[in-house]
Amino acid sequence: MEQKNGRSAIVIGASMAGLAAARVLSDHVTAVRILERDPLDGGPDEHRRGVPQARHAHGLLAAGSQRLVEWFPDLAADLVAGGAEATDLGDCLWHQAGAFRTSIQTGIIGYPTSRAFLEQTVRRHLLRRPGITLHPDTTVDRLVIEGDRVTGAVDSAGARHGADLVVDCTGRNTRLLGQLADAGFPAPPESTVAIDVAYGSRILRREPGDIDARFAVVAGSPHDVPHRMGALLPMEGGRWMLTVGGYHGDAPPTDPDAYLDYVRGLPTPLLADVLERAEALTPVMTYHTPSNQRRHPERLRRLPAGFVALGDALCSFNPVYAQGMSSAVCQAEALGLSLASGRALGSADMARDFYRRAAKVIDNPWTIAAGGDFADPRTTGTRQPGTGLVNRYLEQVFRACHTSEAITARMTRVQNLLAPPTSLLAPPTAARVLLAARRSPARQPTRRG
Ligand SMILES: Cc1cc2nc3c(=O)[nH]c(=O)nc-3n(C[C@H](O)[C@H](O)[C@H](O)COP(=O)(O)OP(=O)(O)OC[C@H]3O[C@@H](n4cnc5c(N)ncnc54)[C@H](O)[C@@H]3O)c2cc1C
Repeated sequence: MEQKNGRSAIVIGASMAGLAAARVLSDHVTAVRILERDPLDGGPDEHRRGVPQARHAHGLLAAGSQRLVEWFPDLAADLVAGGAEATDLGDCLWHQAGAFRTSIQTGIIGYPTSRAFLEQTVRRHLLRRPGITLHPDTTVDRLVIEGDRVTGAVDSAGARHGADLVVDCTGRNTRLLGQLADAGFPAPPESTVAIDVAYGSRILRREPGDIDARFAVVAGSPHDVPHRMGALLPMEGGRWMLTVGGYHGDAPPTDPDAYLDYVRGLPTPLLADVLERAEALTPVMTYHTPSNQRRHPERLRRLPAGFVALGDALCSFNPVYAQGMSSAVCQAEALGLSLASGRALGSADMARDFYRRAAKVIDNPWTIAAGGDFADPRTTGTRQPGTGLVNRYLEQVFRACHTSEAITARMTRVQNLLAPPTSLLAPPTAARVLLAARRSPARQPTRRG
């Protein structure tokens, strides 16, 4: 590649966004250095400080897994060799809007695993590529800013790392954008949708026949108090990850009996019945997500050269929708397109082009999460026009999934970010939705507020 020779990039953060960004950058520069604060010396169940969310269910949507499998051709085989099962993402028990969806074969395949195992396997494949080096135990303290350009980063030991492009993959609470603002660059405007979602998770031993499907999801009604959800996802080692949660302060307790009672508060006893029978392999682990949070550098007139942010640093979603890793992978793909577009590597023009592409990638999952969350009347924040109408229609889509295989297939594609939410709005689909919703065995919800 013409611009590859002698060019270098630094990726700060070796979580899913950092790994995906490094993979794409390695097609365009000679050297990619990944600087990561954590030691990365753990075993298969490594729980690292920088990724505390790894103790909770992490479903990788098809949009993410398809790209990863393309980038790392042996990845799927390695995940399966390590204990993941290739799973049709329609083969599930999905309870929403008062009844179960029709269970279907979609041909859309996923590889459910623990988050730690997925990340470690991707990392191992990434490091087989030439030109990529990983520097664990390396905390970036600050960027090096010279005039209008970021030229590198300084770590906590005082070492300076120079590069043509610095990619910030330090996640939702990145401090690097703040440093740019302190240096006089405009701060990106933010959209925030407050949800106050609390998770409580336990790993369980998986027994044959625990449930009559490959995985289970329970989405409680936003019109109920408490408004709860849960997921039972298989992971390597013959285990389940059980994650349940609630909105607006309804946090799962950590006491095992109280936790079971909480799980019993879901609209179906499916998950509580498995929990009651199964051997629990961990205590209850908790996590709190205050909001969907999106930064909009694509709206800025002035951007520094030599720097982009990617992954949760740009947008972090309500985890219930399982979109974060796939969004990061698709943003990395957008970075690749920007780098291939002929714009000078590390120029402000390239950064602007990347942020525009990334914003398009983020728009659909943002609409699904930040829009869908307004179905709960307690949700507050940046609301897109038409949200209420779309959410009322989506209720009919959820009900249509109780009886229509065709609508369930469409919904599965939208939820896996393989088709835009607007694909559910086309007139022939809408007519089918309304007919199928009428046949739903579930009662219409009673609205609060
Ligand atoms: C409870 C929960 C459940 C989730 N479930 C799902 C799910 O089911 N499916 C899904 O796709 N997504 C899920 N997500 C989102 C997913 O975890 C993230 O989107 C994904 O990890 C990508 O984030 P990231 O790489 O941008 O940042 P992060 O994962 O936050 O990683 C940031 C990295 O940067 C490192 N770092 C931070 N500061 C520094 C520094 N100064 N110097 C060097 N290194 C630094 C950290 O150690 C870490 O490795 C969930 C999130 C939460 C909170």
